[in-house]
Amino acid sequence: MSECLFCRIIRREIPASIVYEDDRVLAFNDINPQAPLHALVIPKRHIESLNALAPEDDALVGELARRAAAIARDKGFAERGFRTVFNTNADAGQTVFHIHLHLLAGRGLTWPPG
Ligand code: 5GP
Ligand code: ZN
Repeated sequence: MSECLFCRIIRREIPASIVYEDDRVLAFNDINPQAPLHALVIPKRHIESLNALAPEDDALVGELARRAAAIARDKGFAERGFRTVFNTNADAGQTVFHIHLHLLAGRGLTWPPG
């Protein structure tokens, strides 16, 4: 069994505020939100980062992106806009090594990011 934090959330060993679930994807609210909507969209299969993706994962990554857009739409942010981010390794600030797509919305988000 993986000791990975997000694998433990998938197994319900750690509570989370879940906003979407199907056979392959889970989405839950970030514990330290950086915007009024800050959800993490993850594959149920453990993959460490974008660096570990294989061509066979293309459809799964597409599902993460489309699910993030669907959640943003359902919560009323499709028109105003939203940001989706994959952090990869140290310089990007990745702290949990299970791929997660950040979904941020509900305030003006500056560019470039910090
Ligand atoms: P990263 O920095 O790896 O891109 O993002 C990891 C995210 O996971 C952070 O935004 C952090 O707040 C969130 N996080 C860390 N631990 C937990 C947790 O136990 N529950 C939830 N819901 N989010 C977490
Ligand atoms: Zn994991």
